[in-house]
Amino acid sequence: MEIKHNISILGATGSIGTQTLDIVRENPDISVRAIAAHKNIKLLEEQAREFNPDFVSVTDEKAAAELKIKLADTSVRVLSGESGLIETATADGADTVVTAVVGIAGLKPTIEAIKARKNIALANKETLVTGGHIVTALAREYGSALLPVDSEHSAIFQSLQGSRDKSEIKKILLTASGGPFFGKTRAELADVTPADALKHPNWDMGAKVTIDSSTLVNKGLEVMEARWLFGVDIDDIEVLVHRQSVVHSAVEFCDNAVIAQLGTPDMRLPIQYAITYPYRRPMSGNVLDFTRYNTLTFAKPDTDTFFALSLAFEAGRKGGILPTVFNSADEAAVELFLAGKIGYLDIADRIAAAMQNAPCVQNPTIDEIFEADAYARDFVKNRS
Ligand code: NDP
Ligand code: MG
Repeated sequence: MEIKHNISILGATGSIGTQTLDIVRENPDISVRAIAAHKNIKLLEEQAREFNPDFVSVTDEKAAAELKIKLADTSVRVLSGESGLIETATADGADTVVTAVVGIAGLKPTIEAIKARKNIALANKETLVTGGHIVTALAREYGSALLPVDSEHSAIFQSLQGSRDKSEIKKILLTASGGPFFGKTRAELADVTPADALKHPNWDMGAKVTIDSSTLVNKGLEVMEARWLFGVDIDDIEVLVHRQSVVHSAVEFCDNAVIAQLGTPDMRLPIQYAITYPYRRPMSGNVLDFTRYNTLTFAKPDTDTFFALSLAFEAGRKGGILPTVFNSADEAAVELFLAGKIGYLDIADRIAAAMQNAPCVQNPTIDEIFEADAYARDFVKNRS
């Protein structure tokens, strides 16, 4: 079925953003109306020249001014600041917005995109972790589809195409690779360096999500993301460590049938499916060869070593601002860890302390979510 797609991309220069543009290269009927990033103007210039969007937006004002000069010989306009990011999210002519910025910075533009009745190809899990109650209600009100890009959630979404009624879901089986430190004890992780933690066994991703995969914070964020995307209870989500990353996740139904989506680790599939849904399209790249795998293994996660995962379940169960505190404390702690200012184990310790000291705010407004974000960052930075 031939349907033209017009997209805009928030975070075009990142891992998901550049893979989205790979999909566009392979599908001439997908056109890019607007792209945004933070400050990588070298790549943004190349992308603007290749994909000819109506405009490019750069959050960093100084970088935006430089890009304006570089693109002066083209018809591509250059916008800047947070307002530019929001204009990208609401760009005229785009029917789907790929939200691939990293962190809570994705929340406000996604809300504006929904209000502009765009469909959301959602990579930025932090949007649902922090503002899931607001975002899902708005999506229903404005008739926007939330189409998962995260590979596990895409797998669950694809598995759910086999069911007509949400009440048939018994359990979500969310798979996790286990990261580079699978099988280690907490004591063995005390001296982990950023370079050690940046080596992911199966997926090639941005720095923050790679560190989060090693601590299982990423899986914790994904549990909360799944809770909102699929409307299930936190305790109906089970994390399964599956080292080979072949089963991308599964759903167990009321009749005990389990439907899973399998494949090679390639983010382009979930990105493409989110854009072309409900249709599938041919794709280049590796197909799954079952004969390459003698065994597929599944195990319960080790929540003693990776206790951030238990913290995420706690945050998800208690709700309110705690998921935001979990997320923002982690964003701040990962930044400190990458800068060599705190140790690896301090990441989870600081998240736990920030959660323990957080005030109780249920059903937070957007302003209260950003207050919780500021509290958590401040708490993590000022704790010695
Ligand atoms: P990257 O770090 O590779 O890229 C982040 C992108 O966001 C860059 O384009 C960056 O611009 C831009 N950006 C960062 N901060 C801002 C800001 N304040 N305003 C505007 N743009 C900003 O991240 P990933 O692509 O790895 O991840 C993006 C999201 O997708 C995350 O939420 C992650 O959890 C999720 N995800 C990623 C997966 C992956 O395979 N990478 C898998 C599943 C989910 P610049 O380059 O200019 O700094
Ligand atoms: Mg994932």
